[in-house]
Amino acid sequence: MRPFDYQRAERLEHASQLTMPESGMSIAGGTNLIDLMKLQVETPETLVDISRLPMAQIEDTDEGGLRIGALATNTATAVHPRVKADYPVLSRAILAGATQQLRNKATTGGNLCQRTRCYYFTDTTQPCNKREPGSGCGAIDGIARLHAILGTSNQCIATYPGDMAVAMAALNATVEIAGEGDTSRSVSVRDFHRLPGDEPWRDNVLKDGEIITGVTLPKPIGGTQIYRKVRERSSYAFALVSIAAIVDMEDGRISRADLAFGGVAHKPWHDPRLSDHLVGSEPSAALFDKAADILLDTAQGYGENDFKIPLARRTLSAVLAQATGTEI
Ligand SMILES: Cc1cc2nc3c(=O)[nH]c(=O)nc-3n(C[C@H](O)[C@H](O)[C@H](O)COP(=O)(O)OP(=O)(O)OC[C@H]3O[C@@H](n4cnc5c(N)ncnc54)[C@H](O)[C@@H]3O)c2cc1C
Ligand code: SF4
Repeated sequence: MRPFDYQRAERLEHASQLTMPESGMSIAGGTNLIDLMKLQVETPETLVDISRLPMAQIEDTDEGGLRIGALATNTATAVHPRVKADYPVLSRAILAGATQQLRNKATTGGNLCQRTRCYYFTDTTQPCNKREPGSGCGAIDGIARLHAILGTSNQCIATYPGDMAVAMAALNATVEIAGEGDTSRSVSVRDFHRLPGDEPWRDNVLKDGEIITGVTLPKPIGGTQIYRKVRERSSYAFALVSIAAIVDMEDGRISRADLAFGGVAHKPWHDPRLSDHLVGSEPSAALFDKAADILLDTAQGYGENDFKIPLARRTLSAVLAQATGTEI
């Protein structure tokens, strides 16, 4: 690990100032950043400890929704009575991730900003455009089992590895961000993470000095809520494919279908065409199959991860069948 300066932020503006230069990085639970510093993948000159800022509350909003502070731990969020009752897909997604010990430290903001698990990204002897712009992408012709099949570029095929944000994308949550001075802005979680394009080193839309302060969930929408995570083993593994689904039925027809996908792209994948296709129709195997055609019409495998295309198709059908009580 390279030597670094440690500063504890006393106020939000202080944290923003300290992380303004590219060499400053905020640390919350530290479960991702410290690992990357040990590997010299992240080499901040200043580590700005934001963990004492008052951002851990989970509270009702005036609109009937729920605001989850950036420093609320994953455990606190998953077991919160309103999350369990009104947003069970979020509770299930968080509990499908990592381990109890990690979830006790991991925070909302840190989870959203966790970095990819691409093997080339974490190995400083390998080419990686995300870690070292212009050095190439080792994964495209290399070990790509965990990698993306949607929204890739010729610069990077990494996935966003988290679970929590996939459920937040299905719920259409909003990320609240504080910047320089007392400026603030809100971004839909569906637009928070980026596709790699020509700038794969940028995972999300945060600018230097910006800090996530919380995530707001809209008022509860009910429906059947499912989080299905397909992985190499049943715990302590990242998603190969995951689906967060909120589905409702009225008079035998689908009246709501909010879906988001993990493990398939550089961001939690949300395709509004799926809801357009499903809502208003009677559930059937053919309808689900067509939904998979729509989801995967631009999908591309890179050898080792070709299996994700049929896996995503089958997982989508299974989740829709479960949510609508349809035999397939
Ligand atoms: C072995 C292992 C298995 C795991 N398995 C899973 C899994 O299955 N599913 C899953 O979803 N996750 C998994 N994780 C990842 C884990 O959930 C993340 O490490 C954790 O959520 C990160 O939160 P943190 O508070 O510790 O972040 P930190 O490590 O403190 O920070 C991570 C990044 O976020 C930035 N950051 C932190 N807070 C803010 C903020 N408020 N505003 C702006 N930037 C901020 C930091 O600068 C840093 O870049 C696993 C981790 C490990 C080590
Ligand atoms: S997929 Fe992205 S993160 Fe992985 S080696 Fe290529 S550029 Fe780096």
